[in-house]
Amino acid sequence: MKTIRTKEDYLQSLRELGSVIYFNGQRVADITTHPAFIPHINAAAKTYELAQRPESEDLATAISHLTGKRINRFTHIHQSVEDLIKKVQLLRLIAHETGSCFQRCVGWDAMNATYMTTYEIDQKHGTQYHARFVEFLKRIQSENFMLVGGMTDPKGDRSLPPAQQEDLDLFTHVVEKNDKGIVIRGAKAHQTGGANSHEILLMPTQAMRPDDADFALVAAVPLNAPGVVQIFGRQTNDERKLTGGMDAGNPDYGLVGGETLIVFENVFVPWERVFMLGETEFAGLLVERFATLHRQNYGGCKGGVSDILVGACALASEMQGSAKASHVKEKLAEMMHLAETLYAGSVACSAMGSKTASGAFYPDPLLANCTKHNVTRHIYEIARLAHDVAGGILATMPSEKDLNSPEVGGYVRKYMAGVKGVSPENRMRILRLIENMTSGTALVESMHGAGSPQTQKVMYGRLGKMDMKKKMAAKLAGVQ
Ligand code: SF4
Ligand code: FE
Repeated sequence: MKTIRTKEDYLQSLRELGSVIYFNGQRVADITTHPAFIPHINAAAKTYELAQRPESEDLATAISHLTGKRINRFTHIHQSVEDLIKKVQLLRLIAHETGSCFQRCVGWDAMNATYMTTYEIDQKHGTQYHARFVEFLKRIQSENFMLVGGMTDPKGDRSLPPAQQEDLDLFTHVVEKNDKGIVIRGAKAHQTGGANSHEILLMPTQAMRPDDADFALVAAVPLNAPGVVQIFGRQTNDERKLTGGMDAGNPDYGLVGGETLIVFENVFVPWERVFMLGETEFAGLLVERFATLHRQNYGGCKGGVSDILVGACALASEMQGSAKASHVKEKLAEMMHLAETLYAGSVACSAMGSKTASGAFYPDPLLANCTKHNVTRHIYEIARLAHDVAGGILATMPSEKDLNSPEVGGYVRKYMAGVKGVSPENRMRILRLIENMTSGTALVESMHGAGSPQTQKVMYGRLGKMDMKKKMAAKLAGVQ
């Protein structure tokens, strides 16, 4: 198959793929021409476009350790600490162009977690998963496909393990095995970029018990495979995407990722696409690795998105005549401090990364978890400060149609005026961008994307070296 290089190649590949996707009760024949999807596709397309630009080639591409060829970095297996740091720099750079989630990191992290873990499964069990995965990965690298990382199962009754759910499909699982492959049923929820990805790399959603063997599955499935159905989720104010223009806030790139519920209705997967099945003791490790690799990212992309929000608030305050007020300067400085703190966490966990047995590099898991945990707090605080600086007009502003109305447009222009010389229209555009970037869906994504805060706290108990800390304290205090 032809390598996807440009944005047009990417759009064409999605049209050819023809995945089954529903939105708002309707099947969408072509997502590349549907306004609910276009902004998200534009954002993901940046991962292709930046690889084409000479000035970003060093960050957006890498040399494959498998083939020696130059590949898109979103298909690369990290070979050094420098690669880990470049990942974070790349995410901040792309966020500066999109102001929203560009989605492709999830599949990238799934590929890296699978690469490391299949190597170790084979070491223990003498299986052939790693070699199979390497063959799959070579194809993904050469075709430059976008993968979605399929981890989160719907989970049903959270108090019950997978094998004890009344409806077993609430955790994706194997229902049949034969000499050609397996048949799976179930679903993956909150799948960022699912609608505009080519394949899904399925992983278990949590640590598994020995009797959960049919749920301990890692496998790759093309998203146009028979039996795969996607249902696109709603977002705050998403009707504004349908009309486009100023009221959409960030009309070209939308609002966070665009997520689907991906259903697997008796989907056949050939053995060469199965990279783990039944090795339940590795499920927890795989989950931890994927989570760490994705939590590593959040100071990169959210740091970059926050940079735009700081700029938008500074512009809004200049347009409204409040830029010189000391409390506004103070709040903008506070926003920058929080954004740089997020970025610093991502750089730190990357700088402290280490080599796994497979040769792939892995960020420091404790620091990566702290980074994502900070995002669950700092993004809300940055949004709070943005609302404070921008003013109540964020919640009450007339629409673009009213601005352009022959009857009331004059009033909107007159009463949306700010500092002399600033066009009311520009002021409204900036305020809509702030509204978009601090809205409900954007905040919830920062809370729960890459795992809820409680999943990060669990890691402090596991990795936080409490015994060592108690010993240090006891020694200084002279406790016998
Ligand atoms: Fe990438 Fe950030 Fe979106 Fe996750 S939230 S897919 S790290 S841009
Ligand atoms: Fe995310």
